[in-house]
Amino acid sequence: MSENYATVNPCSMCMPMGSVMAFKGIEGCMPIFHGSQGCSTYMRLHLAHHYREPVDIASSALSEKGAVYGGAANLKKGLLNVIQGYGPKVVGIATTCLAETIGDDVAQIVREFQQEEPSAREVAIISASTPSYSGSHEEGYNEALKAIVRTLAKRGRPNSRFNLVIGSIVSPAEVRQIKSMLNEWGCGYDYTLLPDISETFDAPLAADYPKIPEGGTPLAEIAEMANSRETLTVGGSVLVGGAGDYLEREFGVHHTRLPLPIGVELTDRFVGTLEEITGLGLPEKYERDRGRLLDAIIDCHKLVAGVRTAVFGDTDMVLGVAKLLCEMGMDPRVLATGSKNAEFIRWGEKMAPGSEVLSGVDFSDIHESVSRNDIDLLIGPFTGRQISKAENIPLLRVGLPNHDRFGASRQMVLGYEGATRLVDGIANFIVEMNERGG
Ligand code: SF4
Repeated sequence: MSENYATVNPCSMCMPMGSVMAFKGIEGCMPIFHGSQGCSTYMRLHLAHHYREPVDIASSALSEKGAVYGGAANLKKGLLNVIQGYGPKVVGIATTCLAETIGDDVAQIVREFQQEEPSAREVAIISASTPSYSGSHEEGYNEALKAIVRTLAKRGRPNSRFNLVIGSIVSPAEVRQIKSMLNEWGCGYDYTLLPDISETFDAPLAADYPKIPEGGTPLAEIAEMANSRETLTVGGSVLVGGAGDYLEREFGVHHTRLPLPIGVELTDRFVGTLEEITGLGLPEKYERDRGRLLDAIIDCHKLVAGVRTAVFGDTDMVLGVAKLLCEMGMDPRVLATGSKNAEFIRWGEKMAPGSEVLSGVDFSDIHESVSRNDIDLLIGPFTGRQISKAENIPLLRVGLPNHDRFGASRQMVLGYEGATRLVDGIANFIVEMNERGG
């Protein structure tokens, strides 16, 4: 791989953008970026194109003056405008590169603001440090989840609930799927799921457009996360130091991290852990779903066997999809992510032995690796389309971002049912490739 001294078409997005996915998953929350206005404009558009929903993100709109003299005045004014204009229960502040570079002390600015504006004291203010030069959108998401529990979780009497933290960015439909699985399992209301984007990023059509979308994890439940008996983070195989680790360190809540449940083995691990936590067996419906997944894999195994595939995108999504490809008898030769993460390399070599595992790379690096490995099929976000076009290799769009196809909010790859859909999707994609002479 040639050495790049600049990023050419990043395979990741900005750190504050990840924070929005976490903040928008809690009740009544409005995000604000402390930094220049362009950051908020770019990320609003990026998310609105993916989810096909309006995505409001405020900005403290730092200009040259703020960059020289500090951005406290802008941030305070921005917070007041957001509180007066949107009436949120929570404001989530994420810093951008500029605010971090000038060294603004956001915690101190927030304390001053709350003293100066008694009318705003009812509103919880969370701040996450998310300069894009120190991580990708995945780290931003992780950082914001930690900031949420750090600000809102309060020590109290122990309760019998468990926390289910979604440690990787998944679709709103997948969050709905996990909730309905837990409810059918008999967990009822004995768990807190954080963050819950099931409605906030995929709302039904309505006559009135609420300023802040309904849904999200209730704030009262987040407060109780400090007193739960257990935290399970799904999609937390490679990113450490998130909400679950914080709750364990500060409040002694035992924490287990699992990969995203994609495919047979990883879903079995998820299900087995839930059985241990709840003391309840898997409902028969899901046993049958598991059998259907195995059936779907067998149905198409001759067609898909040995297809040389490159998978790229978010860390846990790539690892889970690669594992499923191995279960299908395919040949995942390249696993790549834009996030810099040594654990990704270790897990990638375990999930798909013999593959080339790349971390912290851009699409220029991925292109080289795709050419070198004689790839037949690309799986990942739509941002890989230039490689697809240049090399004439079909791209199956999976994950974030997806701007040029519909239904990203309803894409499902998790659990036995999601994997079955993905198996069918891959098989049909290969049928079409073959029909076109690919
Ligand atoms: S790289 Fe930094 S300054 Fe640029 S859009 Fe992302 S957060 Fe904003």
